[in-house]
Amino acid sequence: MKISSLGEFGLIEQIRRTAARDAKRVRVGIGDDAAALMLSPASALLATTDMLLEGVHFDLATTDLFSLGWKSAAVNLSDIAAMGGTPRFCLTALGIPPPLSVEDIRVFYRGVNACLKKFGAVLVGGDTCRSRTGLVISVSMLGEMEKKRVITRSGARPGDLIFVTGTLGDSAAGLEVLQRKAGGRGQGTEVRKLIEKHLRPVPLIVEGRKIAASGIASAMIDVSDGLSSDLGHICEESGVGAEIVAANIPLSTSVMSLKTLERPALAYALSGGEDYELLFTVPPDKLRKFRSLRLGASEIGVITRGRSMSIVGGDGRKALLPASGYDHFRAGRNVRGTGR
Ligand code: ADP
Ligand code: MG
Repeated sequence: MKISSLGEFGLIEQIRRTAARDAKRVRVGIGDDAAALMLSPASALLATTDMLLEGVHFDLATTDLFSLGWKSAAVNLSDIAAMGGTPRFCLTALGIPPPLSVEDIRVFYRGVNACLKKFGAVLVGGDTCRSRTGLVISVSMLGEMEKKRVITRSGARPGDLIFVTGTLGDSAAGLEVLQRKAGGRGQGTEVRKLIEKHLRPVPLIVEGRKIAASGIASAMIDVSDGLSSDLGHICEESGVGAEIVAANIPLSTSVMSLKTLERPALAYALSGGEDYELLFTVPPDKLRKFRSLRLGASEIGVITRGRSMSIVGGDGRKALLPASGYDHFRAGRNVRGTGR
């Protein structure tokens, strides 16, 4: 069978089935933003890893190496944030192609370490090899948190309200600008904000910890593939559906003011990805406590019974919402496989 017919998430599901299911110390295994592992009864070790490949995740013509180092750390930190944890240790493995110099690698690690330092983590190991096929970056992040505070993707229940931090679609719009005009030089402030969001995402560690410490969220994920896909992950893992309202999806003034985008702004929010905002669900009886946190998140919809996702458009009509975010093995942006 071709991998493209399963898609990225169908393939991960196949891998998941090969893993032992009854391991006692695995509180959360494959299928969440990070694994939560029990080293002592009260606290969980969080572990996550992400790869960034030249030509797949980045193009050295449109990113500088400091930003690339920053982003490599940030996307992993974001997975720790999505569990509600505190990042501690980082390992980086590199496959380096011949054109890169010692100075290039130094600049890359300046970016990695600047991001780690800002969020309280430290580089403790890794691996270094030659690559014949472009720059390969693999980063692993370890974090910790109270076991009983771990927020998975699987706790959403019908009636829970859906919230998202910040604004969505900026990163994908920034990427489009970058690809159209290498370097994005000579752009106005609004466009520069979009490019910045794409090249140097800020992991929401503080917000994730606040949400976990207050115990208000039933499920949480970071928006890395696009709102429709990441909400789809919550729905699939929780065995629920969702209804969201298009008009309530937070879009930045930067995206809204950009006249030259190829698609409507909402499309970047639904299927763009790489926003690294936090998407989470709050049960009705926790709403008052949630509001007292003043997180500034937008309420975008509600968790429903059944397994489908829908979106209410500007005209009040409801339509099915397919998971249309990024999938490595489907051609471009595509509908996610049916999963389990
Ligand atoms: P994220 O976008 O949050 O990084 P992914 O979609 O990459 O998450 O991965 C989903 C889940 O599948 C995670 O729990 C991840 O650890 C797991 N996973 C992905 N690829 C593999 C693999 N090759 N082997 C084991 N687990 C994997
Ligand atoms: Mg994630």
